[in-house]
Amino acid sequence: MTTIDNPAGGTSAVEEDYNGPLLEVRDLHVEFHTREGVARAVNGVNYTVSEGETLAVLGESGSGKSVTAQAIMGILDMPPGRIPKGEIRYRGRDMLIMSPEERRKLRGAKIAMIFQDALSSLNPVLSVGYQLGEMFRVHQGMSKKDAKAKAIELMDRVKIPAAAARVNDYPHQFSGGMRQRIMIAMALALEPDLIIADEPTTALDVTVQAQVMELLAELQREYNMGLILITHDLGVVADVADKIAVMYAGRIVEQASVHEVYKRPAHPYTKGLLESIPRLDRKGQDLYAIKGLPPNLTRIPSGCAFSPRCPQAQDVCFTDIPALHTVTERDGTELPDRGSACHFWKETLHG
Ligand code: ADP
Ligand code: MG
Repeated sequence: MTTIDNPAGGTSAVEEDYNGPLLEVRDLHVEFHTREGVARAVNGVNYTVSEGETLAVLGESGSGKSVTAQAIMGILDMPPGRIPKGEIRYRGRDMLIMSPEERRKLRGAKIAMIFQDALSSLNPVLSVGYQLGEMFRVHQGMSKKDAKAKAIELMDRVKIPAAAARVNDYPHQFSGGMRQRIMIAMALALEPDLIIADEPTTALDVTVQAQVMELLAELQREYNMGLILITHDLGVVADVADKIAVMYAGRIVEQASVHEVYKRPAHPYTKGLLESIPRLDRKGQDLYAIKGLPPNLTRIPSGCAFSPRCPQAQDVCFTDIPALHTVTERDGTELPDRGSACHFWKETLHG
């Protein structure tokens, strides 16, 4: 980003000249003040997403994936939530210090979100055509007739059969997979730069999951959008993601390109997740499951949060929080954008 001296005083960003990442999350912290204490849900997350890039965020339930997304979207429950520290830059500008007005303009128009549960996100008493059209009526002042035509066009885009005939149908008249396509259509309506999909296929049947994921990936490529795909299912991301961030107890414990992670994980937690994927060639064998449960976020274990569950933990793991180490080959060659927050990443990676 270029900054210029502003004659009126201070400096201002020149957005046109910006050629950094679309989204940059820096040292983000989110905590919730609850009766049981302070739940530290996000503890210094860093990631970037560029145009046309898909970042998959993985991790078991409760690792802070959705809370990070809500912070980006500007829809965190505050209170009880609080962001004590961090930056969330959209095209170089920190959204956390924007006015609520500016922030609202980005939401939906530039950054859109797809949630897991279409049935509770859609209004049951309004037709899907009305709800899709609303995007254009409210945001672009379009006439009812034009908005309806746009709604049909969008339903076509997400491959809902006989879109024109179904535009006046209500959410409950669609199957789960079709409803999720409608959610995708809503997110796409204003042609955002960035889509955050939070477990977009979790509620669907396995075969439908794959179709919806394919559609999302296809549209993302076509519109060259950035995509943050949140999931706890490693099987889903192999084909669609460019890079992966694995979260545990509110931190990124491993980051890498997709093929690197699958080939050779550099964190015991990622290794455990990978070994939990059902595989045809291992039929009949017991699935490895990571023992124990993720920690209570009001009482995160000292040292590495994963240490109580880690099969490789040594003394240092229970006392020292590991930094996100730059991961290298045996000969010291750095692996770009590769990081592992494990004291023993070398042993994990190189065996
Ligand atoms: P996930 O990785 O499954 O998406 P979340 O980001 O939703 O996990 O949540 C992480 C943790 O943040 C939760 O386990 C909970 O402790 C805390 N949390 C999230 N939302 C709230 C809330 N509205 N009030 C209190 N605590 C919350
Ligand atoms: Mg979640």
